[in-house]
Order: sequence, then C-alpha cells, then structure tokens
Amino acid sequence: MALIVQKYGGTSVGNIDRIKNVANRVVRTAGQGNKVVVVVSAMSGETDKLIGLAGQLSAAPNEREMDMLLSSGERVTSALTAMAIEALGQKAKSFTGRQAGIITDTVHTKAKIERIAGDRMKQALEQGYVVVLAGFQGVTETEDVTTLGRGGSDLSAVAIASAVNADLCEIYTDVDGVYTTDPNIVPEARKLEKISYEEMLELASLGAKVLQTRSVEFAMKYKVPVVVRSSFNDNPGTLVVEEDKEMENVVVSGIAYDKNQAKITVVNVPDKPGIAAKLFRSIAEANIVVDMIVQNVSSDGKFADISFTVPKTDTRKALEVSEAIAKEMGAERVDRREDISKISVIGVGMRTHSGVASKMFQTLAANNINIVMISTSEIKVSCVIDLKYTELAVRVLHEVFGLAEAAH
Ligand code: ASP
Ligand code: MG
Repeated sequence: MALIVQKYGGTSVGNIDRIKNVANRVVRTAGQGNKVVVVVSAMSGETDKLIGLAGQLSAAPNEREMDMLLSSGERVTSALTAMAIEALGQKAKSFTGRQAGIITDTVHTKAKIERIAGDRMKQALEQGYVVVLAGFQGVTETEDVTTLGRGGSDLSAVAIASAVNADLCEIYTDVDGVYTTDPNIVPEARKLEKISYEEMLELASLGAKVLQTRSVEFAMKYKVPVVVRSSFNDNPGTLVVEEDKEMENVVVSGIAYDKNQAKITVVNVPDKPGIAAKLFRSIAEANIVVDMIVQNVSSDGKFADISFTVPKTDTRKALEVSEAIAKEMGAERVDRREDISKISVIGVGMRTHSGVASKMFQTLAANNINIVMISTSEIKVSCVIDLKYTELAVRVLHEVFGLAEAAH
C-alpha cells in the first residue's frame, strides 16, 4: 500500500466527462489499496477567463481580490471531482488551500508556501477518504486567500506530496511526458523515461511548459519523486528524480527554446569600475530578472557595450531603467531587440563530456544561423539567435545530437 498524490491539470478536468475519467483513475488507484490525494487545477481556460473579467474593471486590479477571484476556479473542480469520485462509491472530500492548512507568505498572486499544517487532510486519509485538494492556492497567517503563480497547482501537488510523505507525486497532463524537445517542431522527438531534477529545471525554465519551474525547485529540494504522464492513456510517463550514473552517460538530454526574450544593449558606456554594478542594481530593484549578460570592450579600452536579456514582458521597464542609467553614465544610447529567441542544449552528461558547445556552434554555423549571445552552465549551453530561425535551430540540433534515437 502506498500514498500517492495525483495532480490533474486544466485539460484533464476540462469538462464533466473528463472529470468522470479522472474519478475513474482515482478510484482505480484507491481500489489497489493506495491512499490517494488528488490535486486539481481549474478547468482549462477558466483562470484566463477570470483574469479577463477583472481586466474589464481595472488595468491593475487589487491583488488580494485577484486571489479571491482566481482561487474560485480550483474550488469548483475540487468539489466536482469529489462528487464524481463519490458517485463511484468511493468516499472523497474536497479541501480548499485554507482547509488543507497551506500557509503562504503575503505576496498576492505569486505567494510562496511557508508550511503545511495538513492535519485535517491526514485525518481524512486515515478515515478512508480520498482527499481532493483545490490546487494553486493557500492562505496567509492572517487568513487572506493567496494564489501561487500561474501553473501553481503543480507546486501544490509537490508540496503536499512532501508534507504527507507521499511515495510518488503523479502530474497528469495532456501529453505523455517530457520530450527531448517540442514534438510540435520535431515530430521525431522522443519521450524520456527518466530525467534529473536539474535537467527538468532547465527545461521548465527554458520554456518546455510541462511543469511549473517552482514545483521542480521544490521537488529537487525535498527529493519528491515526480512522474509526468497523460490522463488520457496508461503510458508510463517520465520520471523526474535525482541524477544517477546512467544519466551521465547521456551527454545531451534535450533541446529547449524560449521565444519570450528581449535583448537590451547599452552602447558605448565609459569603461570604468562600477558600471555594471550600477546598471544591474537598478534593473534588480525594478524586479526584472536578467538572464544572459555580455560585455564587449572597444579595442582602445575606453568604452564598453553591455548587453543583457530580459523576459519580453519586461522590455519596456528594462528600457526605461537602462536609459536613465545610460544618461547618468554618459553612454551613447540604449538599443533593444525583441526578434530573438534562446536555444538551449541540456544534459547532466556535459559535466563529464566535452565538445557539446563546439558541436552546437558548428551546427548553427552550417545552417547559416548567426549567434547573437552565448551562455553556459555545467549542464547547458544556450545561444541567442534570430527569432525566425528558432524552429530550424531546434530541428538541426535535435538531429545532430541524435536525440530521436533511444539513448537509454
Ligand atoms: N489554474 C491556474 C493556472 O491556470 C493554476 C494551474 O492550473 O496550475 O495558472
Ligand atoms: Mg500546468
């Protein structure tokens, strides 16, 4: 007998038939003698619809009220799912984040979970109920409802799995698992049987939208074994776990891309100590997350160009801050480019194998794709390129690293 957390995303609970399908799966798992905690998202499109309604009233709606509003979507599906499970003869009980004791900080619309006082949930499990938790939400110490950021039901599931010491956290979605790259671009993309937390984190933050980034960070920190699989079939899915020896033999595990990038360049800044410090302090104070940074110094050593990338949604803010600083420092001007994307090659095997970066650069060159910026970490190489070559780059890199062939 095991304790299993099953999280069902928006498409998996998108209508009543799908909720019945979820109920069947849950009852099957419970019938095998397992205790089950189900975590549900809002029906697909519901959260966007609610955001749209608020947008008709205000350009910047009150964030506390936003959380009251948005948390309703998950509340609906949790009650409906509990009813569907009971209709099959299995006891079930729904819980809001508050009832489940999910205590968060006070940062509305992107709150962090601080602790989980899951007594009521544990009690219900002991009494033979399937617990159905409304995902994406919690409550502050002072009992204001909060939400955990877009895609936050994944985080609810992983956090609950850790709190109740679950044997497994299954994330059910509308794809079969984590792929070597986006199958919409490369039909030969292969589903991975297993991937390390670190690789998953790179894939998640680089734009492979299967798991919310924060949920992967949480799973890694608390070593929660996660499976990503489809609620529409019985295929085994992808296991996200700690790195093992076998994974190291695979040099490259996946190719990610991110079209949500913009590049800002401060041109001809006097090259003096403290320039970068000043610029990036102001950027950080504006709550803008910078990804890549490149500095080029002119041949006479007097001037520098500083380029960096930010999420496209922050371009305007980043530009304003940079222009103010540029003026102060006597730089010539600030340029921006939004027609770029970031392509990344990821694999824990890079720790022990060399040559990945050069192979990537050669492949892009052979296809006449210009590299605008480069950055590397222990387990990835990223290049910024022209947006229009994104698909081509993903395809040729997937091919050259042989990702379509089974590696394990
Ligand atoms: N319903 C929320 C969203 O759409 C949370 C989730 O689905 O995970 O972002
Ligand atoms: Mg999701």
